[in-house]
Amino acid sequence: MFDSLSDRLGGVFDKLRGRGALKEQDVRDAMREVRIALLEADVALPVVRRFVDQVTEKAVGQSVLRSVTPGQQVVKIVNDALVEMLGGDTTPELDLNATPPVVIMMVGLQGSGKTTSTAKIAKLLKEKHGKKAMMASLDVNRPAAQEQLKVLGEQVGVATLPIIAGQQPTEIATRAMQSAKLQAIDVLLLDTAGRLHVDQQLMDEMKAVAAISNPRETLLVVDSLTGQDAVNVAQSFAGEVDLTGVVLTRMDGDARGGAALSMRAVTGKPIKFAGTGEKADAIEVFHPSRVANRILG
Ligand code: GDP
Repeated sequence: MFDSLSDRLGGVFDKLRGRGALKEQDVRDAMREVRIALLEADVALPVVRRFVDQVTEKAVGQSVLRSVTPGQQVVKIVNDALVEMLGGDTTPELDLNATPPVVIMMVGLQGSGKTTSTAKIAKLLKEKHGKKAMMASLDVNRPAAQEQLKVLGEQVGVATLPIIAGQQPTEIATRAMQSAKLQAIDVLLLDTAGRLHVDQQLMDEMKAVAAISNPRETLLVVDSLTGQDAVNVAQSFAGEVDLTGVVLTRMDGDARGGAALSMRAVTGKPIKFAGTGEKADAIEVFHPSRVANRILG
């Protein structure tokens, strides 16, 4: 049977019970298990190395507490370090402190869950924060993308900007800003176009839209199931626009959490939301401790 990482770590340390301090060789043996578990979870290698070094440094020489077994003590050190790597204990809030309409620009590749996440966040803002929200689709590449957002808007009870065929993304952004001002909208969500790969046209379009709408939040939507690819995509986007956070979708299908772990360490951007299903309310504020628990088992 497959033992959880907690069990495996415990096993390494059981023989140590009752001794004075955590010894380097034992910690190193335990870290081999951590290393394997993180690599199995598809965490990027440099991130794994850094993590293992940090935890080793912290654990070696620590006095063994009387109240817990050495194994439990190391599990706790690893858990705390995982939570820290995932963004710490505080949950990152959306920053909506600006003159309305506050703009949230959603960016990402096609199929990442961008349109769905836009509607999910609009629903949250409306229902949990009492905000008057509006959504606009700037996706003129994917057939029916604008229509899809309209249908989702009807489902969640959030207005969408009326569709005018043939308009370019920057024209739609300008019209959305005007319309949001006229209607005293609190938060305007812009669902920008996605493409199958990161390319210059996509980046230029995003920058042009940002110049018009001055977004307070620029959220990158990535699919957690794509693992390290998701992290590479995030790195490309972070190099081009001022991302303020990440939405990690399909966490319902990702038992491993590797993308979440590398994301913060590689891009420095906080994961703000986790998508947990196809339904409009399947979104959660990102909780580092839950992902840490999944990895530790
Ligand atoms: P876009 O091309 O990035 O706008 O992607 P969509 O929002 O159209 O989403 C693509 C597919 O992924 C749709 O079938 C969504 O229902 C599905 N989807 C989006 N987010 C999640 C999620 O968190 N979990 C699951 N299981 N499916 C999701």
